[in-house]
Amino acid sequence: MSNRTLAIIKPDAVRNNKIGEIIAKITGAGFKIKAIKMIKMSKTSAQGFYEVHKERPFYAELVEFMTSGPCVPIALEKENAVADYRMLIGATDPAEANDGTIRKLYAASKAENAVHGSDSDENAALEISHFFSRNELLQNAC
Ligand code: ATP
Ligand code: MG
Repeated sequence: MSNRTLAIIKPDAVRNNKIGEIIAKITGAGFKIKAIKMIKMSKTSAQGFYEVHKERPFYAELVEFMTSGPCVPIALEKENAVADYRMLIGATDPAEANDGTIRKLYAASKAENAVHGSDSDENAALEISHFFSRNELLQNAC
């Protein structure tokens, strides 16, 4: 069954001018882009998006990083989207990511790791609605 996941090209990868290469990897792996934009997250938006990590020691650093420059959220669709996209991006820490994965290729560290990926269908739906209105998703329906 075709389902959705939320990708974010994070501020480090945008600064490194890797938007195009990362999107080529994603579409080359069979994902369809349902909605895409470039934004600079506000502190409130980043705190809300990563609220699940608010007790973790790296929370403040994570919010600082995610608001440090523009990022590119992308709603993706594919059969088995959540698991297949996480396979494509690799482990959270690029040092542990498999060869050929997006984090292995483009991430510098566990904190600045180039891309985000949803971890469940339920969170994918919540995360997509964090960035895209119903209208933005419908306008991009194809
Ligand atoms: P994401 O949710 O961004 O796709 P993930 O699911 O692989 O990443 P999580 O455990 O959800 O990893 O952590 C969310 C993000 O917090 C990581 O992608 C990374 O940017 C940051 N992070 C995680 N662990 C650490 C850490 N130990 N030190 C610094 N930053 C961290
Ligand atoms: Mg996560």
